[in-house]
Amino acid sequence: MNETVAQRTAQLRARAEIDLAAVRANVRALRERAPGAALMAVVKADGYGHGAAACARAAVGAGATWLGTATPQEALALRAPGAGVPADVRIMCWLWTPGGPWREAIEADLDVSVSGTWALEEVRRAARLAGRAARVQLKADTGLGRGGCQPDDWAGLVAGALRAEAEGLLRVTGLWSHFACADEPGHPSIAAQLARFREMVAYAEEQGVRPEVRHIANSPATLTLPETHFDLVRPGIAMYGVSPSPEIGTPADFGLRPAMTLSASLALVKHVPGGHGVSYGHHYVTPGATTLGLVPLGYADGIPRHASSAGPVLVEGKWRTVAGRVAMDQFVVDLGGDEPAPGAEAVLFGPGDRGEPTAEDWAQAAGTIAYEIVTRIGTRVPRVYVNATA
Ligand SMILES: *Cc1c(COP(=O)(O)O)cnc(C)c1O
Repeated sequence: MNETVAQRTAQLRARAEIDLAAVRANVRALRERAPGAALMAVVKADGYGHGAAACARAAVGAGATWLGTATPQEALALRAPGAGVPADVRIMCWLWTPGGPWREAIEADLDVSVSGTWALEEVRRAARLAGRAARVQLKADTGLGRGGCQPDDWAGLVAGALRAEAEGLLRVTGLWSHFACADEPGHPSIAAQLARFREMVAYAEEQGVRPEVRHIANSPATLTLPETHFDLVRPGIAMYGVSPSPEIGTPADFGLRPAMTLSASLALVKHVPGGHGVSYGHHYVTPGATTLGLVPLGYADGIPRHASSAGPVLVEGKWRTVAGRVAMDQFVVDLGGDEPAPGAEAVLFGPGDRGEPTAEDWAQAAGTIAYEIVTRIGTRVPRVYVNATA
């Protein structure tokens, strides 16, 4: 079977349709929220499961001038000619481990994040080998307590970066940080992190750092906290049309539209008697004679097993619920006596305007966040792009 046949037949089972017009419109809506700032489209984790290169191109088409990824491999892939990302688009990556591809990153003109002196040393060595200055963004831990340089260590990191800059080995192109609770309106850590960020930026600038960009705003901050926008905003989830948290609002509240629709074709529809156990462990037992529909997607495809007996699916205009356990490759819905034809469409989630559930509905059913729902859709599910051109 050749590639094309494999792709087409895979789509018969299930598909994640990605509406690139929605991505473009979302990026434009985010730019309107932050009119004074540049926009970095965050396309880590394969564009939150939507496809990194396609979403990067769409975002750039809608005015994003930066792209952001976690790993250097993700960033380098966006510099490959096949990705179709213009060479003048800045690409930044922030999750490094010792021995990482610093030299390749420098040669690919990436912006690399540095949180500690080990990384500064590796950058300096790689810049010597590459024979050109690295673009380095210093990351401050203003309170998230994850990556970034602690305030007590900041003076040392800034001094080391300035020495390397004087040697011609790097340029400090950015000063940046990340919020812990920007999706919780009024959380006291927001103001505390912002104040700390201002102090750490001011210190670095007093010492002589001249960054091109200062940035701290993720999606919730881009949407709701204009005082955090600085020179650049870094939305991820919102560009895919998903709200960072139901607490701050729905996508529609912000003029956003979910870009991914996940659907499958029923693999079997059959009559079963009452009292019939369904799926592993028999956690669902049919309350009476009914029909069951077999949905050919499972936890190997990213359907959370925690959504067993809870996840919603739209079949022929009606919401049905996962009956019993989600298995590796399939799950069952009780169709209540309805008899859709085999192959009938089962929509797990989408924008919601055809009456289908949303990724947020699945997140609530599984006790997680919508980020995890869209990001984990597996590689066995083909991405089908629509509205690739404006
Ligand atoms: C993932 C990520 C973002 C984007 O976060 P969203 O909440 O999806 O907008 C921004 N900055 C960093 C450092 C990240 O890791």
